[in-house]
Amino acid sequence: MFKDRFFLPTKIISGNGCVSENYSMLSALGRKAIVVTGKNSARINGSLTDIEAALKQNSIQYVIFDRVEANPDIKNIREASNTAREFGADFIIGCGGGSPLDAAKAAALLTNNLVDDENIFSFREWTNVLPVIAIPTTAGTGSEVTQYSVVTNRAKDTKQSISSELIFPRIAFLDARYTESLSAETTNNTAVDALSHAVEGYISKKSTHTSSIFALESMKILGVTLPAIASGKIDFSLREKLLYASMLGGAVIAQTGTTALHSMGYSLTYFKNIDHGRANGILMSEYLRYISLSAPAIVSDILKALGLSGIDSLERLIGALIRKNENHTVEEIKKYSSIAMKAANIANTPVPVSESDIENIFRKSL
Ligand code: NAP
Ligand code: ZN
Repeated sequence: MFKDRFFLPTKIISGNGCVSENYSMLSALGRKAIVVTGKNSARINGSLTDIEAALKQNSIQYVIFDRVEANPDIKNIREASNTAREFGADFIIGCGGGSPLDAAKAAALLTNNLVDDENIFSFREWTNVLPVIAIPTTAGTGSEVTQYSVVTNRAKDTKQSISSELIFPRIAFLDARYTESLSAETTNNTAVDALSHAVEGYISKKSTHTSSIFALESMKILGVTLPAIASGKIDFSLREKLLYASMLGGAVIAQTGTTALHSMGYSLTYFKNIDHGRANGILMSEYLRYISLSAPAIVSDILKALGLSGIDSLERLIGALIRKNENHTVEEIKKYSSIAMKAANIANTPVPVSESDIENIFRKSL
């Protein structure tokens, strides 16, 4: 019997100049907008100029919230939602890497819903959620096409996802010109995040027929683009491919969730300030070695899609893309493992995984 599931309500518009060309699409969303972005990059990469021009062409009033931090915490997303509420925003435009996009999505929920910090991640009765437009300027998170907002929860010493279909962006505008200002380091780290979404989505217990087609397509593109950027070759066409592969990865995890690898990576980000994509990359090879012990066929599909001969080749490729120079004590690894085991996405891991398995993967990787 054939079974499949796939849900993606986001209108995806890609291409050079797509925000300016499609400016009139914003008029249906309201008369007042808040633009949620990071501190600097949107001003440098041209995205904010295009957004402001599009809003002005529609005579939409707007306010800019440009204080989103990397890996935003609850306090930071509340600053954005308070600004939206005070301004009376009808809709939100998130522009930037995954951090501003996720802050925009969380603010869309919190603007008209007063929910205590401890209930944010479990609350299900969201009403009057503001529509979100997402404009990614990194090629990695795929947040422009997911229902997740990843927020740092200091009360639990980790990052957690708010998940609601109401925050799937209405429109995602993908213009690779905005990613041209990325440093080589952020380009590589975020590309490895895209890889981890395709890989984890492919192996997830929740994978579906269609999500796996998207995952394999994303991995095929990354199999060509990752070695190129590792050798320092990057041009506009490559940036377009990375942005496309990243969007596909987002569409995959919107169906499948992530797995133990993301749960583990969150501790490296929270405690050691390691960028999200790099954190996943540091752990990925050992994680796949563990998975391949019980499920060799899915790992070999992944390697084949990437055009790699084995996990050792994957490890070399990732090693050429990201750095690994932090030290971690045995106590720290125990703490990371205990926190990772409590994450919701552990349940999507395709083979049973215990706390000592997680600890071993950490030990071998770090
Ligand atoms: P980020 O934290 O959004 O941005 C990292 C850095 O890159 C910031 O300093 C930012 O500067 C800069 N930057 C962004 N775009 C730039 C550009 N075009 N040129 C130059 N610099 C640029 O990094 P990210 O890796 O994209 O996002 C990570 C976050 O996304 C994490 O919190 C992760 O958990 C989350 N995530 C969410 C999902 C989801 O489905 N919701 C999926 C995966 C990951 P500014 O601050 O000045 O903008
Ligand atoms: Zn990720």
